[in-house]
Amino acid sequence: MRLLLLEDEWRLAEAVSEGLGRAGFVVDALDTVQAAEQALQTVRFDALILDLGLPDGDGLTLLHGLRRRDSELPVLILTARDTVEDRVVGLDRGADDYLVKPFAMAELLARVKAMLRRPGAALGKVLTAGNLSFDSIGREVRIADRHVDLCRQELAVLEQLMRRLGRVVPRAVLEEKLYGFDSEPASNPVPVHVHHLRRRLEEKGASVRVHTIRGIGYLLTEVDS
Ligand code: CA
Repeated sequence: MRLLLLEDEWRLAEAVSEGLGRAGFVVDALDTVQAAEQALQTVRFDALILDLGLPDGDGLTLLHGLRRRDSELPVLILTARDTVEDRVVGLDRGADDYLVKPFAMAELLARVKAMLRRPGAALGKVLTAGNLSFDSIGREVRIADRHVDLCRQELAVLEQLMRRLGRVVPRAVLEEKLYGFDSEPASNPVPVHVHHLRRRLEEKGASVRVHTIRGIGYLLTEVDS
């Protein structure tokens, strides 16, 4: 899952990105309202983690704009403004949750996961294909009910393939899901991750196959085990 983090304290942004990254999320960290507005128009994020005091505006204004456009994007506010009024305003404007700074990384992670599990967050469910199951929140894959270790890029690829089981997933979609804005796509091409994923699935006896559709993308199908 891909999260947008809008936070202008770079140390905090770095720590949060790292923590969420370790939990298997892809995180794009931005530090201005303007950059976030642009990103939200071009990328489908699964959730937004939003600081309020930003150099070019207020996070609440951005949130208000999102809700006026009927966006159901789950939003968690990070704020140092810990007065009751501020919390109420945030939730009034359509935030799903808020966390007061300073906070523990484990707390943030728990809140993000809880937010994504709520009804309305369409992505909070276990995907299945053949003897494979993928908990899209817990970021855990099981084959024939046995846990399988995959790196977060492999998890991201597999998630997209499972969401579109039996349909071609364009390579560009995988690229978009895999890389944050700061990464260098050329250093980790999609085919390499697909190759590793395919090998891993075969080793573990998965009853699915990842097909390469040359020049277009990839396709996951179920096979008789
Ligand atoms: Ca700030």
